[in-house]
Amino acid sequence: MPPADAPANPNTLPSPLPCDFLSDDSSRMLLTLVAAADAGAAGETPVGAVIRDALGWTLASAGNACLAVGDPTAHAELQALRQAARRIQRQRLPGCTLYVSLEPCPLCQAAMESFRVEHALYLASRPPEALEARRPTPTRRMGCSETSDSPDSPPLSPAAGALLTIFFESLRQHC
Ligand SMILES: [Zn+2]
Repeated sequence: MPPADAPANPNTLPSPLPCDFLSDDSSRMLLTLVAAADAGAAGETPVGAVIRDALGWTLASAGNACLAVGDPTAHAELQALRQAARRIQRQRLPGCTLYVSLEPCPLCQAAMESFRVEHALYLASRPPEALEARRPTPTRRMGCSETSDSPDSPPLSPAAGALLTIFFESLRQHC
């Protein structure tokens, strides 16, 4: 045992902090901020999203790109979901986690369900008035008025249902 005032032996110094001193989630969130800043610098609403797979690999990193691609649905989350799906050449992303710098809008939440993302984490909450300010597009069944939902089927509705029935029956036959 060396005396207390002995010079420190470099071989006994504690090892340096590991480079992943931030948690996995925190480091992914930092990447969302980088993507958000890039989007903001390009004139987009500064939101960024990152997708990590079950093994910890980063599959996608994207910012809002509505102006860049001329598509009001090109939100960061959707861009990242599509990028990740292309990367692994699958339509679904089970086991994946989506990180986003802003609470996802209803459109992106629905997309996450469609892509079967397992977890989603966000940083900033969306102000409630931002959601209330959006008026959903009025949707109604063809042939029904806005005030009364008549039980009469519009003439083409059996065809729409039949297409789906035939499709799913053929799928079952091939299973
Ligand atoms: Zn969205």
